[in-house]
Amino acid sequence: MAGTKTFTMLKPDAVSKGYIGDILKQITGSGFKIVALKMTQMTENDAKSFYEVHKERPFYGELVEYMTSGPIVAAVLEKENAVDDFRTLIGATNPEEAAEGTIRKKFAASISENAIHGSDSDENASIESYFHFSGREQF
Ligand code: UDP
Ligand code: MG
Repeated sequence: MAGTKTFTMLKPDAVSKGYIGDILKQITGSGFKIVALKMTQMTENDAKSFYEVHKERPFYGELVEYMTSGPIVAAVLEKENAVDDFRTLIGATNPEEAAEGTIRKKFAASISENAIHGSDSDENASIESYFHFSGREQF
């Protein structure tokens, strides 16, 4: 059975452009309940470790630099079928390929500065949620 939680980050470009309110409104308006929320900034070690699966990819260095360039908003979200439904809501990694109305289509600048993260599996949703939040911070 699909899990009911996913993890997201509003990335530095979305935060610096003032999109926090609009993006959270689209998320909650699509049926996701916010069960953890904070503004924070990742250190270089944080970003390297969070994106470790991509460490051999050519964009890894640039990704770490981007994700540490300013504050992010991290959140844990609850909904039936959370992981898949949230990936649908945010759209393709490359905003040029993202469906009309998706968060990346509306708010992302490029494939690298693409406004928002969404977990890709129930297992990673849990790992990523506990990377950013203690148990007491998840409701
Ligand atoms: N990314 C990038 N260049 C690429 C692919 C990905 O800069 O060619 C960045 C982008 O910010 C993306 C993140 O690396 O969101 C993680 O990549 P992934 O393939 O996991 O995409 P996602 O799951 O975020 O859609
Ligand atoms: Mg991914």
